[in-house]
Amino acid sequence: MYGKMKQFLTEELGSIEAAGLFKQERIITSPQKADIQINTGTNLLNFCANNYLGLSDNPRLIDAAKQAMDTHGYGMSSVRFICGTQDLHKQLEKTIADYFKTDDTILYAACFDANGGLFEPLLGEQDAIISDALNHASIIDGVRLCKAKRYRYANADMADLERCLQEAQSQRFRIIATDGVFSMDGNVAPMDKICDLAEKYDALVMVDESHSAGVVGKTGRGVAELFDCYGRIDIFTGTLGKSFGGAMGGFTTGRKEIIEMLRQRSRPYLFSNSLAPMIVGASLEMFNILNESDILHDKLMTNVAYFYEKMTAAGFDIKPTQSAICAVMLYDAKLSQDMAARMQEEGIYVTGFYYPVVPQGQARIRVQLSAGHERVHLDKAIEAFIKVGQEMGVLKN
Ligand SMILES: *Cc1c(COP(=O)(O)O)cnc(C)c1O
Repeated sequence: MYGKMKQFLTEELGSIEAAGLFKQERIITSPQKADIQINTGTNLLNFCANNYLGLSDNPRLIDAAKQAMDTHGYGMSSVRFICGTQDLHKQLEKTIADYFKTDDTILYAACFDANGGLFEPLLGEQDAIISDALNHASIIDGVRLCKAKRYRYANADMADLERCLQEAQSQRFRIIATDGVFSMDGNVAPMDKICDLAEKYDALVMVDESHSAGVVGKTGRGVAELFDCYGRIDIFTGTLGKSFGGAMGGFTTGRKEIIEMLRQRSRPYLFSNSLAPMIVGASLEMFNILNESDILHDKLMTNVAYFYEKMTAAGFDIKPTQSAICAVMLYDAKLSQDMAARMQEEGIYVTGFYYPVVPQGQARIRVQLSAGHERVHLDKAIEAFIKVGQEMGVLKN
C-alpha cells in the first residue's frame, strides 16, 4: 500500500527542496537564551527566538517549575473538566484576567488551540468573522472550523475593514479578528480605530496578543494598554510560549459569558490534556516577575531603539517597528538566504524570509530583540550586519 504514497511523498519533498523551501531543524544543545550553543559545538548569538523578555532560562521560573512538580506532581492525565483542574490552574486563569483587566480566562495547551477552539462555539451560519489578511495560521484555521461567513480585509487597512463591516451588516453577530503585532513587519494593529469601527457597526473585537503581550504598551501589557482600549476589546488570545516564559500553553481571556461558553463547547479544551503543573506554577511566578517591575520590558524597548538606530544609521533599510521585531529589508530572496548564512558564519543567528512567507519582492532578514540581549550582544550583531552588508553591497551609505 505504502509504495504509491512513498513515491508521491518523495517527489513532493523533492519539489519543496528544489524550491528552496525545505525546513531544516537546527539542533541547540544549550538552554534557549541570547548566547546559545549548537550541536556543532559553536556558539551563536540568537536573534530569532520569541524570547522577548529573556525569560526562557530565568532561574526563578526554573525553581518555580521544580517546586510545582514537588507539590502538584508531573502530569494531569486528564482534560480539565474530568479531573485535570488544580488550584494552580484556577490561580493562573485569574492572574491572566487581572493582567489583561478582563473578567475570566480559559487555559489551553497552546494558543494554536485557543484560536482553533474560539470561533466555532460562539458563531454560526448567520454570523460573520472579519479577519485581517495577515492573521496567524491558527486564527485562519479556527475560522475554517466555524460556519460563519468570512470576510478578509487588507492588513491593518481601516477603509477595507469598514467595507467588510458594511457588507456584513445583515448578519446576526459580527466579530473582527486581528493579531496584535504582525510577525513579519512588526507593525501593530490600530486597535483604537478597530474599536471605533466595531462600535459604529456593532461588532465584537478579538485580538491575538501572542507577539504583542509583554512587548507593546507603556508597561508591556499589550494592545489594550498601548491604545487605551480597556473595556472595548471582547476577547484576547495569547501564548505562554513567547514573552511569557517561552515554555508552552495558551489562553483566551475576556467577557465572562464568552469564557463560560468556551468551557462548555470549545473542542481543544474539552478533548485535550490539561497544562502540566510545572508550566502552570512557573507561569504564576512569571506574572509575579512582571507585576513586580517593568525592568525587563524597559530593557527590551531600550534594546529595540538602540538596534534600530544603529542599523538605520549604518544605512540599512529597516521597516519602522512598533514591537520587538525588526525587518531588515533586502527585497531579494536569494540575498536574504545568502546574507543569513553569512551572518551565521559571523556567529549571529538570524533568519531570512521570502515569498510566500512575505509578499513577492519583499524578502528580508527578521531580527527579534530580547531583554536577554546585553549591549555587547547587540554591538556584535550590528558589527556583523555592517561587515556582511558591506560585502554584499546592501548598505545605502
Ligand atoms: C505564535 C503564535 C501563535 C501560536 O502560539 P502557540 O502557543 O505556540 O500555539 C498563535 N497566534 C499568533 C499570532 C502567534 O504569533
